[in-house]
Amino acid sequence: MILVTGGAGYVGSHLVMALLEAGKDVIVFDSLELGHIEIIDILKKYGNLKFVQGNLKNLDDIRGVFLVNKIEAVVHFAAYSQVAESVQNPQKYYYNNVYGTLNLLNAMLEFGVNKIVFSSTAATYGEPVYTPIDENHPQNPINPYGNSKLMVERIMDDYDKAYGLKSVRLRYFNVAGADSKSRIGEWHNPETHLIPNVLKATPDKKFKMFGTDYGTKDGTCVRDYINVEDLAVAHIKALEYLQNGGDTNYINLGTNEGNSVKEVFAACEEVKGVSIPLEICSRRAGDPATLVADNKKAKEVLNWIPQKDLTDCIETAYQWEKVLKRSSK
Ligand code: UDP
Repeated sequence: MILVTGGAGYVGSHLVMALLEAGKDVIVFDSLELGHIEIIDILKKYGNLKFVQGNLKNLDDIRGVFLVNKIEAVVHFAAYSQVAESVQNPQKYYYNNVYGTLNLLNAMLEFGVNKIVFSSTAATYGEPVYTPIDENHPQNPINPYGNSKLMVERIMDDYDKAYGLKSVRLRYFNVAGADSKSRIGEWHNPETHLIPNVLKATPDKKFKMFGTDYGTKDGTCVRDYINVEDLAVAHIKALEYLQNGGDTNYINLGTNEGNSVKEVFAACEEVKGVSIPLEICSRRAGDPATLVADNKKAKEVLNWIPQKDLTDCIETAYQWEKVLKRSSK
């Protein structure tokens, strides 16, 4: 059985769908603070899925999962991930993302489970020194969120050296899109991400474009948008890599392509076929001008090549927005 922490959340749920469709037995552990039970109910239709509600901050919650289930490997998504919130409330981030992960790792050691795929982030690199960013780029996070993820990466290195716990840290760039059959998708409250915010905009609640004075091709920030279904495939390949005896590793997940906020906005207008209400605003604190992945290592180590482009991301996100709107969530 594969244990997926945070499997009721955005990225985690897409991995769970892919695992179930590949015939794997899955157990999701999620506090449901940010994840949704409705997503679990949908996922249950697609295979053998067990759900446990619990919090990683309670060691007994996660020990209980290992005590009564035969876990082969863990994929660990459960975390807070809002940069601005992490600056205002670092305690929340370190307590949950670091202490919570320590409880998970310690339970793994106690029950002899030694394989974990971890959701890391491009935020561990901090302000880019060069672009595209490869895995040897210095890691100097500029906010507590990035720090919390880097601390876990370091802990995983030490746990490998001392206890032989093997990890693959997947450093995501900008995850986007939804399930191509619109069964599940991104569902945050409040939503902070670019594509859903552009798609949701109305004349009363215009899309706010944060900063048009960056030193980029059109003055707006450039990001590398990686499709959530492609990302799920990379996690399955990372699990296979560990199950085939692969050593601890760290790998970027991105497309090698950058798109500006203005380009994303225009692509959303194209997909919706209407003009979207827009308000130009000042820069959002903590946004680097450009973040683009060098994704060669993912090809070399995992044989993973992203298949979907920005339009796929926007089209699937748009279909999912309609589902959410219909159910008024
Ligand atoms: N952005 C924006 N308006 C929004 C949300 C995001 O202009 O309502 C911009 C943001 O400033 C950044 C880019 O879109 O330059 C991507 O932001 P997002 O929050 O989606 O991801 P991040 O890069 O912060 O992980």
